[in-house]
Amino acid sequence: MALIVQKFGGTSLSSLNRIRWVANQVVKCKENGNKVLAVVSAMAGETNRLIELCKSVMDPPDERELDVITSSGEQVSSGLLAMMIKAMGYDAISFQGHQVRIITDNAHSKARILRIDDEKIRKALSDDKIIVVAGFQGVEEEGNVTTLGRGGSDLTAVSLAAVLNADSCELYKDDVDGIYTTDPGICEYARKLKKISYDEMLEMSSLGSKVLQARAVEFAKKFHVPIHVRPTSKPDAEGTWVVDEEEAMVEMESVVISGLTYDKDQSKITILHVPDQPGIAAKLFTPLGDEGIIVDMIVQNVSTKGHTDMTFTVPETDFKKSITIAKQVAKELGGRGVTSDDKIAKVSLVGVGMKTHSGVASKMFSQLAREGINILMISTSEIKISCVIDEKYTELAVRTLHEAFNLGVDK
Ligand code: ASP
Ligand code: MG
Repeated sequence: MALIVQKFGGTSLSSLNRIRWVANQVVKCKENGNKVLAVVSAMAGETNRLIELCKSVMDPPDERELDVITSSGEQVSSGLLAMMIKAMGYDAISFQGHQVRIITDNAHSKARILRIDDEKIRKALSDDKIIVVAGFQGVEEEGNVTTLGRGGSDLTAVSLAAVLNADSCELYKDDVDGIYTTDPGICEYARKLKKISYDEMLEMSSLGSKVLQARAVEFAKKFHVPIHVRPTSKPDAEGTWVVDEEEAMVEMESVVISGLTYDKDQSKITILHVPDQPGIAAKLFTPLGDEGIIVDMIVQNVSTKGHTDMTFTVPETDFKKSITIAKQVAKELGGRGVTSDDKIAKVSLVGVGMKTHSGVASKMFSQLAREGINILMISTSEIKISCVIDEKYTELAVRTLHEAFNLGVDK
């Protein structure tokens, strides 16, 4: 008998009718001879509503109480789903994060899972019950409720699938029906992928594709949990499988590039004419790191007469804070000041096939050149190439590269 973990998002739970539909899906899976564990998000809009409520009392809200309040959305939806399943004549039981015990650190509102006690769940599964777990919630060692970050129910589902050694983890999505080669919103030829490897999905999640939470993918990779991203609108259709590289490659043998992402939430800052000496980079990036700013790309120019320019990118949300720090550092180092630009975007090609194929970078560069798009910065890893460009060319770059690399053609 297979064990299937199914996760449903807020839109699928937005009304009693929709919850009944979810209950039917869960029961159907059970009737097909599987053991089932369902993980739920809060009803649509509920988490946002609760956060606003907190902010109207105290801004920024007290962290501990914020988690007490935001976690309640999932408490309601999990109880409702379990009750709905019972009303249909099946045996179900709901668990909150602290009842399962999903133990986390105490970083409120972005807690990390440390371990999961699966005893109660195993017992309930062996009693042949349908299990419903409230997503997003955890509990720290002292017993305080924590939450796992926005979109954290994906992580609840994947981590439970991991500890229970589930056969698959189905993530039902309301807005997409799988993982696409690129954003279908800007490229009409975007194609749904049958399979993608964890590493590619991780790159895509952190490069701007918003379908899966990156931490959930990391977890799935570590524990080899096969993820099936499926559309709620067509629950029987195949979506996209996120799996180990060997398995993904079975179908993608000749595929070099799997996906193309873009991220407009980027800005760049240059510190001009600082001394090219040991310790300079540390002086700049330590205060940025101390402020919790995530620096993405870094380029140091060739030095002339012992001086160099240093350019780096940060998310737009940290743009102002980063400029202040950069200006301070420039002053301390006797630099010639700071220039900046937040109208930039990062376009990236992702594919495990890059490990064994050459010519991807040159093709990307010449294609952008053909469209007259200037490349401001470049960075690469084993399975990705990113170019920073002027933000206004993002759509053009995506469409051009999608076509040049034949991503729209079924393989
Ligand atoms: N309800 C939480 C949120 O909106 C968690 C989730 O839906 O995954 O972020
Ligand atoms: Mg930008």
